[in-house]
Amino acid sequence: MAIINANFLKLKAGYLFPEIARRVRAYGDANPALAERIIRCGIGDVTEPLPAAAVEAMHAGVAEMACRETFKGYGPEQGYEFLRQAIVDNPFAGLGISADEVFISDGSKCDTGNILDIFGKGNLIAITDPVYPVYVDTNVMAGNTGEADAKGAYGGLVYLPCNAANGFVADVPNEHVDIIYLCFPNNPTGAVATRGQLEAWVAYARANDAIILFDAAYEAYIQDPAIPRSIFEIEGARECAIEFRSFSKNGGFTGVRCAYVVIPKTVSGSDGMGGRVSLHQLWSRRHSTKFNGASYPVQKAAAAVFSAEGKAQVAALINHYMGNAKLLREACAAVGLPVFGGVNAPYVWVGCPAGLSSWDMFDKMLSEAQVVITPGSGFGFGGEGYFRISAFNSRANVEEVCRRVQALVG
Ligand SMILES: *Cc1c(COP(=O)(O)O)cnc(C)c1O
Repeated sequence: MAIINANFLKLKAGYLFPEIARRVRAYGDANPALAERIIRCGIGDVTEPLPAAAVEAMHAGVAEMACRETFKGYGPEQGYEFLRQAIVDNPFAGLGISADEVFISDGSKCDTGNILDIFGKGNLIAITDPVYPVYVDTNVMAGNTGEADAKGAYGGLVYLPCNAANGFVADVPNEHVDIIYLCFPNNPTGAVATRGQLEAWVAYARANDAIILFDAAYEAYIQDPAIPRSIFEIEGARECAIEFRSFSKNGGFTGVRCAYVVIPKTVSGSDGMGGRVSLHQLWSRRHSTKFNGASYPVQKAAAAVFSAEGKAQVAALINHYMGNAKLLREACAAVGLPVFGGVNAPYVWVGCPAGLSSWDMFDKMLSEAQVVITPGSGFGFGGEGYFRISAFNSRANVEEVCRRVQALVG
């Protein structure tokens, strides 16, 4: 008899996006004439093609693989030196990170989930609410929570409320926690943390011997030069933080798959017996045991994102999406809805019209405007009463969505 991991049974049925897909499919089946009008602003996936520099580099990488002299089999599990060095020299330039503190992977979703492998049982874990659901569900699977209550809150987790009053940036807790997930720019709310706010988090982590898991997947969308792009811009973060980065949202690699984790050698955890162990060392062991490296052509493509042409092309992509975000913000504000985010992030976070829940608004937008949004409550009970519109779309689609929102709510 094979015993299953019973923690999985605690998961709330229906991960958010399958439920959205189910409702969209059901609507399309019931309304075939309107089905082709549907515009998807729900899932956080990019829509524009890859930067040309990445495509060229990927082609060149494939050509090398096609030739006996340049063929490559397994690469280093931690990633090719050329990519790790390009990361250290570009987004992490001047931040005191060395190439061997960078671990290349095939995605930040897996990295943010897998990182729990190196942490033991009994840690008190803080997550913001609303939140990227992966942080919560992977802790449930790992057995770090109790059961969910009627609101969907799991026992044992410390929920940090994010709301209009705190600008959707969680305050440091009054109690002790061991691990904190922070995501800036934020998915789903589009909020960013100021230097002062991040300094408060690093000070909290150091005072509490806690670890910050910092998800910077949307770093490229930051427009305001005063907003830190990396947690390692904050003094002391090298002692208490791990950062997750991805090529998904800057280079549009959601279908290509490449990401990385930065773990300074100076971050450590307790062995429970008074000793300290380097998290870098543990992750290195974990990564080389359970992962065999990202694809060579993909790593070539990722490195090309940091070339001069690559940077210019990524900047153009970001400009495109941020232009969309501005239009969406303005359209929602014009009909009197409370609007957050969308300034340093590709997500616009909008308060529902009075009296409508997040799923009510989802159904209304789908059935009356054929626009798919993401219900805020899908990101946690703190998201109730809000919805997320993604700026990942063509300009024509965004303009049409703006017209429909104004016709529907205005
Ligand atoms: C999109 C996204 C990522 C990136 O995930 P990949 O697996 O690298 O595609 C990471 N964190 C958040 C919050 C995201 O929305």
